[in-house]
Amino acid sequence: MATLRFKALEDVVHRKPIHPEIKFSKVSEYYGLNVFDRKKMQQYLSVEAFDMVEDSITHGTRVDRRLANQVALGMKAWAIERGATHYTHWFHPLNGTTAEKHDSFFEPVEGGGAIENFSGSLLVQQEPDASSFPSGGIRNTFEARGYTAWDPSSPAFIIDTTLCIPTIFVSYTGEALDYKTPLLKSNVALDAAARKVCDYFHKDVQKVIATLGWEQEYFLVDAALYNARPDLALTGRTLMGHSASKDQQLEDHYFGSIPERVSAYMKDFEFEALKLGIPVKTRHNEVAPNQFECAPVFEEANLAVDHNMLLMSVMERIAKKHNFRVLFHEKPFAGVNGSGKHNNWSMATNTGINLLSPGKNPKSNLRFLTFVLNTLKAVSDNADLLRASILTYNNTFRLGANEAPPAIISVFLGKHINDMLERIEKSVSDKKTMTPDEKAALKLDIGKIPEILLDNTDRNRTSPFAFTGNRFEFRAVGSSANCASPMIVLNSIMADQLNSFHEEVQNEVSKGFKRDEAIFRILRKYIKATKNIIFEGNGYSDEWLKEAEKRGLTNIRQVPESLKAFVSPSTIKLMERNNVLSKRELEARHEIRLDVFKKKVQIESRVLGDLAINHIIPTAVKYQNVLIENVRGMRDLLNTGEFNRQAGLQLETLKEISAHISSIKEGVDAMVEQRKIANAHSLIDDVAQAYQVGVVPYIEEIRYHIDKLELIIDDEIWPLPKYRELLFIS
Ligand code: ADP
Ligand code: MG
Repeated sequence: MATLRFKALEDVVHRKPIHPEIKFSKVSEYYGLNVFDRKKMQQYLSVEAFDMVEDSITHGTRVDRRLANQVALGMKAWAIERGATHYTHWFHPLNGTTAEKHDSFFEPVEGGGAIENFSGSLLVQQEPDASSFPSGGIRNTFEARGYTAWDPSSPAFIIDTTLCIPTIFVSYTGEALDYKTPLLKSNVALDAAARKVCDYFHKDVQKVIATLGWEQEYFLVDAALYNARPDLALTGRTLMGHSASKDQQLEDHYFGSIPERVSAYMKDFEFEALKLGIPVKTRHNEVAPNQFECAPVFEEANLAVDHNMLLMSVMERIAKKHNFRVLFHEKPFAGVNGSGKHNNWSMATNTGINLLSPGKNPKSNLRFLTFVLNTLKAVSDNADLLRASILTYNNTFRLGANEAPPAIISVFLGKHINDMLERIEKSVSDKKTMTPDEKAALKLDIGKIPEILLDNTDRNRTSPFAFTGNRFEFRAVGSSANCASPMIVLNSIMADQLNSFHEEVQNEVSKGFKRDEAIFRILRKYIKATKNIIFEGNGYSDEWLKEAEKRGLTNIRQVPESLKAFVSPSTIKLMERNNVLSKRELEARHEIRLDVFKKKVQIESRVLGDLAINHIIPTAVKYQNVLIENVRGMRDLLNTGEFNRQAGLQLETLKEISAHISSIKEGVDAMVEQRKIANAHSLIDDVAQAYQVGVVPYIEEIRYHIDKLELIIDDEIWPLPKYRELLFIS
């Protein structure tokens, strides 16, 4: 196909929904089409306004009101040209979604007529009536004010006919009510701390950013089947369903050819994503049937987080067009793999250095070692907090469920790095200059190993936190998570650690050690101090559970217990010291997460109770009656001897069904009772804990009996689509 001119293509794409006939010859022709990016800013803004935005992005300088007006005008002109009629501040409240309230550009004017209005003040700050967003007690509903404020570092984009402006969301009194605010603050903290440490190695570094490349796993289910499963529709996962006779045993889905219908969906949502400037690059099948993955090229963490949130909503929207429903739940189906969102994380300098990339000479190797060991130290000292950042009710079904990393935080480094650390540790020296051994240790191995080799060897997929050549991959993050949560914690603990490291090094220097020697001494200390969390074996094995316990590593699998790390004195100190979150904000987040946990369990418990009583038991009774009728007929037809012989099996089945029905009924009654007990507590900590110990076990138990019934009861009358139908797309 002949390549059309760019402008013409824009018009076609914009006016009509995408159509198979519209073919671009290259992604570069439509990448970022719906984004007010640098190129468009240059086109639509004065030099002065453009420079201000640039400055604000790189140095975090405040936005000047007068210039903000110019930006708003440029943005509006571009957006209206692209067919936008509305604008919205787009933010990430703490309920885990994205929020938007659309306002029209249109404004009536005195004397009739109307104009399209969008001013700097509307761009920069708004005051949505946001009383129904969770605030953890920070904002009283009678004083429902919360502010959204423009984040210039994440470009505005158009969805459908709405211009969306990424913003932070804070309370009237300035506390963060979202994920973005602390994420941006953690970026600032990391930048300052990492720059100080970088200065030891590279004098010219002016800025350090966190980089994030997420890998999004998801399931697809046919929309009609999804709608026939109230549990899936209301809770995101199947609360019942016996395993299909065949699911992932043969591992024939992983990296297999993508079904045509799925591939059409992927192309469609990727097209939309690319127009929004989301650099999606990789797609493949995952291990479980109907499970897939999508991954972009990594970006600066704040932008990557926005892009992930945006992609999830694009995927949901486009799925409906293909009669699919996309599931981001961490464990929609029991017995097959759950879904994660691996967070590949590193740090990069404005001079183009990846700080976790092994160097080519001793100096850059020392820098590499410094950042790797500081990461180890940060993770080791804050494992509980890191876990709390990713442990949600849904994720508890995945973590430790023998195909996902356990809830024990350990780090995998690979043989090359481990050998090197060992060598360094052994080269003990108390002299004030480096021994030849120490110097050799730095020169050895790592510099000589090409990056590509480090990248592709030594992969350990069972580790929750693995070094993968030039970055760490945090694999315990759940598929539905907002990546900001783990990123805030990683950036903050790293910033804090780098500050301590800097202080320790300066201390050694003041004792008379040369700088490199001082660094070396501290690193050697860290090697010893972090040995405990390094684990290279199979993280899914039972041996590891025992070994981790021996090492004193925590293995917390329950949300209320895990969340305590959010409000521990050490977390509060760390977050306040680095100006990321205040005590009040942490307490609010703790409360919100407990509340979300409680509500999720409560909803599941109600849905399960309803389905059990209204769908499953009546079906079981119906089948029982069929069997009873059958037995009665046998009794009429057969003589006693024959009857006893032949009806025995039927009677056994009848008894079995009765037993399961009673267990289900008793289970549901007891579960309701437990909910009442839990709800009677007044502190959310107690409510959540009571839901955990009182209600959660019943959800599993009731399911067990329902799944048994599914195997016994006539398929024709079973009221819900089964796993074998849900899990295979034809
Ligand atoms: P795998 O499935 O083998 O882990 P993928 O290619 O699916 O690998 O995903 C790797 C992810 O890591 C990609 O999003 C990639 O952009 C990202 N990545 C690569 N280098 C970095 C880095 N320096 N910082 C952050 N993310 C990175
Ligand atoms: Mg990966």
